[in-house]
Amino acid sequence: MSGNLEALRGYVHFLREREGVRQIKLTLAAREGLAKLVGARADSDGSRRTLAGGAQEVPRPVNHAISEPVARRSTATPAPASQPPAAQRAAVTRPVTNERIEVTGATKVEQLAHLNERAQACQKCPHLVARRHTVVFGVGDPDAQLMFVGEGPGEDEDLKGEPFVGKAGQLLTKMIAAMGLSREQVYIANIVKCRPDMPPGVPGNRKPTRDEMDTCVPYLRAQIDIIKPRALVALGATAIEGLVGATGPMGAMRGKFLEYRSVPVMPTYHPSYLLRNQSNTEKRKVWEDLLKVMEKLELPINEKQRGYFLKG
Ligand code: URA
Repeated sequence: MSGNLEALRGYVHFLREREGVRQIKLTLAAREGLAKLVGARADSDGSRRTLAGGAQEVPRPVNHAISEPVARRSTATPAPASQPPAAQRAAVTRPVTNERIEVTGATKVEQLAHLNERAQACQKCPHLVARRHTVVFGVGDPDAQLMFVGEGPGEDEDLKGEPFVGKAGQLLTKMIAAMGLSREQVYIANIVKCRPDMPPGVPGNRKPTRDEMDTCVPYLRAQIDIIKPRALVALGATAIEGLVGATGPMGAMRGKFLEYRSVPVMPTYHPSYLLRNQSNTEKRKVWEDLLKVMEKLELPINEKQRGYFLKG
């Protein structure tokens, strides 16, 4: 078995056992690539697989479109047989862990430094500890009025020890600049502080599991308690789930303030969604969510800012 195929099998096993994934949608190109890997023929309609060399049959793909790279186990109530379109379905809220981390220190800087020390020494998820290069705690102003919360470090962040420094991070930095702010004026952190591990040889990143989120989110909560921002922006579904326990389609959740311990939380799309969907319509949706945050914080908004992404 080739190293690639071995890595792929490991990854599929990992998705099934750890993430509860039962189906992965593949494009035709991906099916063809996979078929080459296992020595099979990928018919263009996906209807037949002829496998050579006794390799296992590739599961029949259900669809040619990839909306998300992998489906994640949903904590939402199972949907009824006839359900409204995804964007109209309501969010489901589940309880989130209440564990609190006590921190010491007279100032915010000292408290964050103490919390950071504890995070750096954290061994709660041995499988993540074994692979991590750094613990990605968070960056920004301890007195920030606005805090951005993402999902978890990817490869770039794991290597650098700073959140949102890869492609999605560069876009986030631009979004912050469009609001008239800088990275140094806000605070940026993630639901999980260690990069969710990938099987050896498998590129890319994965979402944290529910257990990983529950284990790690007390660090984020302590960060919020110390910083006391006036508003939070939750970037993507994992951030919303980790912060307030709400799950549901992003299209239904974005744009409406939620609350985390009386702090307004604006759910919006993750910048990596915008990297995959570069139309002005999608950019404008995120921008409108950020305008609402600017209004909440009474930040100045000029006419140019009001008009961003309105024209084709
Ligand atoms: N995506 C996230 O959610 N967080 C990061 O830090 C980087 C990418």
